[in-house]
Amino acid sequence: MSDIHDLDSDSAVYKTLLESTQAIPWKIDWASMQFAYIGPQIEPLLGWSQDSWVSAEDWAMRIHPDDRDYVVNFCISQSKAGIDHEADYRALTKDNGYVWIRDVVHVVRDENGEAQSLVGFMFDISERKKTEEKLISLQKELEALSFKDGLTGIANRRRFDSSLDVEWTNAQRTGQPLSLILLDIDFFKQYNDRYGHILGDKCLTRVAQTLSLAIAGPRDIAARFGGEEFVILLPETDENGAREVAERCQRLIEKLQILHEKADDVQVLTVSMGVGTIVPSAGMEATDFIQAVDKCLYSAKQNGRNRIESARI
Ligand code: GH3
Ligand code: MG
Ligand code: MG
Repeated sequence: MSDIHDLDSDSAVYKTLLESTQAIPWKIDWASMQFAYIGPQIEPLLGWSQDSWVSAEDWAMRIHPDDRDYVVNFCISQSKAGIDHEADYRALTKDNGYVWIRDVVHVVRDENGEAQSLVGFMFDISERKKTEEKLISLQKELEALSFKDGLTGIANRRRFDSSLDVEWTNAQRTGQPLSLILLDIDFFKQYNDRYGHILGDKCLTRVAQTLSLAIAGPRDIAARFGGEEFVILLPETDENGAREVAERCQRLIEKLQILHEKADDVQVLTVSMGVGTIVPSAGMEATDFIQAVDKCLYSAKQNGRNRIESARI
């Protein structure tokens, strides 16, 4: 008698314990797939009353449609295999919202090893998910920032280096031509001296934005190479294609009509460009290619600036 009495009072204690935790306890009978129990804490969390949880179907229908199939299939297959498991999903609330839940499931088996029931706890992990999502978005932002030039907003040198790496190997494999444009603003020191660094910076930004408008290929990249020098990487582009882009850049920058009064007779800001095209073979180095294109740029400066010098390298 006293044993039974103890069991009863124990049950009351367990019930009190279960119903006063933040985690929500539940039990589903395996044969009928009906809820044998769900903690009353479910109602304040999701809005659905305790007695509205009748069958496993109710549970499935209260999972966000995007998570439902995966979660239900996963839980069924794990349960059938008798494996304890856990699943994160968005549980729908009665007022059309959702709460992130981690459901931790234990498979209870009879003496023959057959599944008898599933018991588990639902944990509200919204806060954790929010933090996780925030971290992921911060990480993405950081990643984007680390590839972005702080002043002009276009790709930075690091981004260019990493793209060149990839495209160099691609071109070696496919035998497709790869083109590069190096661009340097003419008499920029004088521009800074005359108009000041603030306007100088503004000018760099306008040129950079113009360059990013001049490219069209899905893998083309316009980047700030350093100081007042820019670089455009054109995968799968031959000499004619590269020359076309360079001329477009020249035209668009001229169209900006950035006043640059100097002793020289050209009164607007101009640029000089070196253009190179290569089909790199195995063993060739990308840095040698850049150096060769830089020589073209140097020739453009030597030959009077505001011009394009190109070469097949
Ligand atoms: P050249 O036609 O031969 O290219 O003449 P240049 O005066 O443009 O030549 P140089 O490359 O020697 O000078 C580049 C100048 O660009 C020097 C520096 O003051 C300026 N510069 C480099 N980075 C920045 C920047 O971030 N902001 C501003 N405002 N000026 C910069
Ligand atoms: Mg320079
Ligand atoms: Mg310059």
